[in-house]
Amino acid sequence: MLSRDDIFNELGIGPVWRLRDAPGEAPGDPASAPMRNWEQLADAVAHCTACKLHTTRTQGVLGVGDRNADWLIIGEAPGADEDEQGEPFVGQAGKLLDAMLASIGLARGDKVYITNVLKSRPPGNRNPEPDEIAACMPYLLNQIALIQPKIILALGRFAARSLLDTDEAVEHLRGRVHLFQDVPLVVTYHPAYLLRKLSDKARAWEDLCLARRTLQGL
Ligand code: URA
Repeated sequence: MLSRDDIFNELGIGPVWRLRDAPGEAPGDPASAPMRNWEQLADAVAHCTACKLHTTRTQGVLGVGDRNADWLIIGEAPGADEDEQGEPFVGQAGKLLDAMLASIGLARGDKVYITNVLKSRPPGNRNPEPDEIAACMPYLLNQIALIQPKIILALGRFAARSLLDTDEAVEHLRGRVHLFQDVPLVVTYHPAYLLRKLSDKARAWEDLCLARRTLQGL
């Protein structure tokens, strides 16, 4: 029988993040199911206790959209609205994200899947902590394996840094095409940041156009 690592390696979606000293069933635990289908994934996220956020969240927020999407959009973590409604990017930042998608002819759910690095809301919308990212990363890897997107758009530093395994600032990571395994990945500013820094919206638009061109050129 193939181990979880064998399967992830086979799918070319390593490295596999492991949660050390996790109580109960952790996604990184080799004894747990190696790869989940959508139903299993939704159930696992709904009942996940792999990090401390399960004690403060209302619900896990897996993601929304087309499960055969070309575009995978990855944000940071659910906020208060998302925690309440169970869907990513439904607050103010979500409205801006929808407008950003519309600006390049895309719509939520139509060839687009939206998710976050963390599936549970950090209390008070604080930044995700490294152990929380490590605990949640197998869910994102599982989603990527199921969706097999043609392009990934990483919104903000937590998505960019988690996937590219770097400490570089968004400012330095944006404007070019990276690869996550074999999938082209474009980094841009997080919509919540753009709500505060309107002058960077033009750069975000350039990044979206770069992502669209990259997809068209595949
Ligand atoms: N910010 C995020 O990164 N994700 C959401 O779902 C909402 C706000």
